[in-house]
Amino acid sequence: MNKAKRYLEKPINKKILCIIGVIFLCVSVYDYVSFSMQRISMQYERQLEETGKQIAGHINRHMRDSIALLDASAIGFERYEDIHSEEALQELHAMSEKLDFSRMWLTKINGDAISSEGVRTNAEGREYIQRAAEGKSGISQVQTSKVNGKKNVVVYAPIYENQEVAGMVIGIYELDSLETILNTDYFDGKGHAYIYKPDGEILVGPEDKTVGLIITSGKEGTIQSEESKVITYQQELHKNYAYYCPIGINDWKLFLTFPNEIITKDLSDTMMATIGICVKIILILSIYLFLHSREKNNELRKLAQLDSMTALRNHGAFEEFLDGYLLQGQKENSVLILFDVDKFKRVNDTLGHVEGDRLIIKIAELMKKFFRQEDVIGRLGGDEFAIFLKEVYKIEEIEERMKAFMNAVEGIAAEFHWDMVITISVGIAVAPAEGMNFNQLYESADKYMYESKLRGGNQIMKAENYYLGRE
Ligand code: GH3
Ligand code: MG
Repeated sequence: MNKAKRYLEKPINKKILCIIGVIFLCVSVYDYVSFSMQRISMQYERQLEETGKQIAGHINRHMRDSIALLDASAIGFERYEDIHSEEALQELHAMSEKLDFSRMWLTKINGDAISSEGVRTNAEGREYIQRAAEGKSGISQVQTSKVNGKKNVVVYAPIYENQEVAGMVIGIYELDSLETILNTDYFDGKGHAYIYKPDGEILVGPEDKTVGLIITSGKEGTIQSEESKVITYQQELHKNYAYYCPIGINDWKLFLTFPNEIITKDLSDTMMATIGICVKIILILSIYLFLHSREKNNELRKLAQLDSMTALRNHGAFEEFLDGYLLQGQKENSVLILFDVDKFKRVNDTLGHVEGDRLIIKIAELMKKFFRQEDVIGRLGGDEFAIFLKEVYKIEEIEERMKAFMNAVEGIAAEFHWDMVITISVGIAVAPAEGMNFNQLYESADKYMYESKLRGGNQIMKAENYYLGRE
């Protein structure tokens, strides 16, 4: 037996190995789950970043389109000598109906302005007038409307006359309009987008205390100054993710949140799948161990039932089988044949124990040869053997077979070159007539065997002193 096998044979070592196996499995599961969590987090961080960039790009394009629209319309207004003429104002009015602006203005370089609804004002000194006067188009800083209190920006484009800036066309763009772009269903409608300024002012976005606090207080430290980054923040014991980046319009930045529940769900799915696999592995292993130990037990039980020298059934197994069989209440006769070697001690005494063993083994071999597969043969102990024959119709046939067997036993001496005669004494008991269990049949057969011995051995004896001497 090799070292490993010997080690495993000790039950304590088996237990240690089992514990090590379970610990190893737990550590592997923990490693796998941690690795999965990291992988899933990274995957979602990437997704968050990509979505954020897309939204920022979308807003940027949308605002630049507004500037481009005003640039194009400014070219149209160049044909009017006076941009405050009736026709120019009519065109402005028609334009404001079609475009996204809440109100449009035609403003002269001196600040005189008329709106698409015909309202007059003077906007002199405003920052965007100055910029447009310099020939630039663009978007102003955010302002709050005195009319409706909403936040808006002024989109402006210069109108030229003889290569000089004569005025400007202005569109008031309410930031609420950006909500339609921001409120797209990100992450199953659970993510939220905000537009904010580095000074902490939230321009567009839904109400959220935690997010508001992060943006306004700059709690995460870098959110105000840094370009773009994925950050995590705590909200009611949950760790949430967010991404911020510049939009490319003025100093506006985008803040996009990503709810933890999506990651948690994905993680719990992964964990459930992992646990499922583990349970299956443990189940398969348990079934394997159970079957293996059952096979081992069967082997051990079989070994415990066999006589170690002859591999015939031992006394206990033979008795157990017989009782089991007879208990079924068989209809036909069955027969227990008991035999014992005559004067076996002589063999031991004159030739030695090893030769005695040889004789016992040889007799067992002959028994296997002479009796059918369905006959039950056993060594009851020492030089005493037994054969149980089922469904016997003619006792004479059995006796004939036994006589042949006795001849074969007698032949062993010649085969072994022993100067000695080897005979056996046989007793036969018939069931159910003489008993319905091993003990009763054994007692009867033993009695006949003893009678045979009394008559000098080498004889078969059975019920009613029926004597069958050998010719
Ligand atoms: P009898 O004719 O009355 O049967 O006389 P016997 O000499 O055969 O004596 P008995 O059957 O009573 O005893 C059998 C002897 O066989 C007793 C024991 O010393 C011996 N013996 C029992 N088992 C073994 C064995 O496995 N090997 C050997 N060599 N001898 C055994
Ligand atoms: Mg004997």
